[in-house]
Amino acid sequence: MIFFKTNRLIAFFIGLIIFFTNAFAIAGPVKLSEIRIGRQDEKTIRLVAHLDDKNPCKVFTLENPTRIVFDFQNTQLDKKCLEKMPKETGFIKDIRIGEPVKNQTRIVLETTTVPSFDEAFYLSPTQSEKQWRYVIDLKQTESSPPPKKQSILTPISASTSAKQKLLKPLIVLDPGHGGSDPGAISVSGKYEKNLTLKMAQETKKALEKTGKYRVLLTRDKDKALALRERINFAHKNKADLFISIHADSAKNKKAKGLSVYTISEKASDREAQLLAERENKADIILGIDLSNELPEVSNILIDLAKRDTMEKSAHYANLLVNKMAKNVTLLKDAHRYAGFVVLKSPNIPSVLIEIGYLSNKQEEKLLQQQSYRTKLANSIVQAVNQYFDTIYE
Ligand code: ZN
Repeated sequence: MIFFKTNRLIAFFIGLIIFFTNAFAIAGPVKLSEIRIGRQDEKTIRLVAHLDDKNPCKVFTLENPTRIVFDFQNTQLDKKCLEKMPKETGFIKDIRIGEPVKNQTRIVLETTTVPSFDEAFYLSPTQSEKQWRYVIDLKQTESSPPPKKQSILTPISASTSAKQKLLKPLIVLDPGHGGSDPGAISVSGKYEKNLTLKMAQETKKALEKTGKYRVLLTRDKDKALALRERINFAHKNKADLFISIHADSAKNKKAKGLSVYTISEKASDREAQLLAERENKADIILGIDLSNELPEVSNILIDLAKRDTMEKSAHYANLLVNKMAKNVTLLKDAHRYAGFVVLKSPNIPSVLIEIGYLSNKQEEKLLQQQSYRTKLANSIVQAVNQYFDTIYE
């Protein structure tokens, strides 16, 4: 009766998918159109979010640095919120707003001390104020006692589980080329493989300096490494984020600027399938062993994981492009899509950065300067910080 059992499992998953599709189709995301943060009194700061409708919000704190995180489920963030960001005030040091995944809004407040919270409440629409307002007061505490291991408050939603990782996130940096493969050769005869290694080593240092991440390099010396080995290395070490570093070259000597690549849906399809087959489909989706499941079931699950990975990769790429835009020249449409082999992990968010053109005289010169590379490394770190602040595990 195995046939019956597995068929039921498929029916269950299909049912699940139909259920979610319908649930969203009927409910639709709630519009989040305004976020205000202001002083209520000497020691109280009030956060107000304007919404079309009452909506669950999960609130929890994170340490090092101290942050309060507000997760609004099933919302559509009005882009005006990002253009008109509220200003830091009182013990709020930094404010970040983003959509880590579609239809979810995350507000992160970095604070100087650990504040206490009152329970959040909703103000219903009035004559002058047409929307619902989610309101929460944060109170500055005298001292800053270390937060409880799991200081999670859920004023509205019943959910109380924010995943607390025991290990720091692992970032794998992948310096392109190496050994007998020099990569691109610059106008003055410099090799891409040496530049990418330097860049990766400097970025590793900058990431480690934050104290928030573990960092590994796919190669830390001048040696050849197959593309597959790079992916496998990240896979074996269970990387949370994979960043491949390259430098570009073009016939057009005027071409210059940095770009970031992530995989496109088409490009990732076949690869996910191959990897899944090779790995006997086990351990691809967060350690769930699928080796006993029917291919149809495994494929649905792999597809879900792949989509999630692709969204996260694009999310990091966008953050990175935004940070880089402030510091260096970007290529037009700097976030690009391509089927690079190293981007094809179905379960590890991956990006490939082309840090600039070695075929362009000025950019080659810049890339040889440590001060310029520091700018690049710092942008990578800032984007990583924001990524892990806003991503769902
Ligand atoms: Zn390259």
